[in-house]
Amino acid sequence: MRELSEIIDALRRDCDIPDDELKMLIEADDSEAADTLRTAADEVRRENYGTTVFLRGLIEISSFCKNDCLYCGIRRGNHDADRYRLDPEVILACADEGYRLGFRTFVLQGGEDMYFTDEVMCGIIRQLREDHPDCAITLSLGERTEESYRLMKEAGADRYLLRHEAASDELYSKLHPAQMSLENRKNCLYTLKRLGYQVGAGFMVGAPYQTTEHIIADLRFLQELRPQMIGIGPFVPHHSTCFAEAPGGTLQLTLRLLGILRLMHPAVLLPATTALGTISPIGRELGLKTGCNVVMPNLSPVGVRKKYDLYDNKICTGEEAAECRGCLQRRIESCGFAVAQERGDAVGFGGLDQQ
Ligand code: SAH
Repeated sequence: MRELSEIIDALRRDCDIPDDELKMLIEADDSEAADTLRTAADEVRRENYGTTVFLRGLIEISSFCKNDCLYCGIRRGNHDADRYRLDPEVILACADEGYRLGFRTFVLQGGEDMYFTDEVMCGIIRQLREDHPDCAITLSLGERTEESYRLMKEAGADRYLLRHEAASDELYSKLHPAQMSLENRKNCLYTLKRLGYQVGAGFMVGAPYQTTEHIIADLRFLQELRPQMIGIGPFVPHHSTCFAEAPGGTLQLTLRLLGILRLMHPAVLLPATTALGTISPIGRELGLKTGCNVVMPNLSPVGVRKKYDLYDNKICTGEEAAECRGCLQRRIESCGFAVAQERGDAVGFGGLDQQ
């Protein structure tokens, strides 16, 4: 068996290691190995992206959801949830404000809300495209039909974030109601890729029932899919879900997986997520130092932020967009990184990769 430091070297060199070594690395509760992994991930990130960090302005367009994912605070079954949806004009105004603040990517995320039909979404996307032709438009609206994804692409959307959530059927079905399936989730991701979207997939770290074997399945699926972005963050319990009492994902395991993902996917876009900032006051800074190169400040109107309540104690729900932007810029610079002014597409993904 190789030493952990040799395993990390091999992962960096080959972007891959066998399952048994992956298991050792994922389970390595060892501060020396954590330092080695962080340093390697930081070097690889710098080789590909220098010190650049991309900002994505997140607009949470609706907390209505027809799905019932067991871990999620805005699941249909949570009757205590305070629901809202943003009018198209409000969404466009959030983007205008974001543009003034220097954002060049807007992420429209929400629950699966039937109000946002293809017609409504395409109207918003077309207007956004016209108002801000130099910006990337990212959608994160869950599972829709191929036709819907196609129409929204034609209307001008560029990217789509859809975490696969769990690449093992067994775990996926423990976290989701019977009507949802991993097969459909994966099909959506492959369809999005085929339609020419830049895609983001990912999973929660420390989700209920998750084992190292499940995480290995997630990492193997991500190697197969090769998304442009990988979003992972700790699972954080929400008080009115069945997992209210479940333990959350840890900072250490999340950082270890971020480091592993950076070595496996040298050129991927890797966000330091809000959930990571929620479980530790310096979670996002530590993420940035462990290979992350994206942060997603909140551009939603302050009045609705607390209602996009995916998990407890979510941070950044009280400030105006400008404050959020300023705070994150300071945090990024405090780690020796610099905020990019461009759209920030993943490097090294040529046309061939889109197929
Ligand atoms: N409806 C969209 C957006 C979901 S919210 C979709 O289906 O893609 C975005 C992400 O938040 C989810 O993909 C999930 O991984 C994460 N999330 C939901 N509940 C969470 C929780 N309790 N803790 C941490 N992350 C959570």
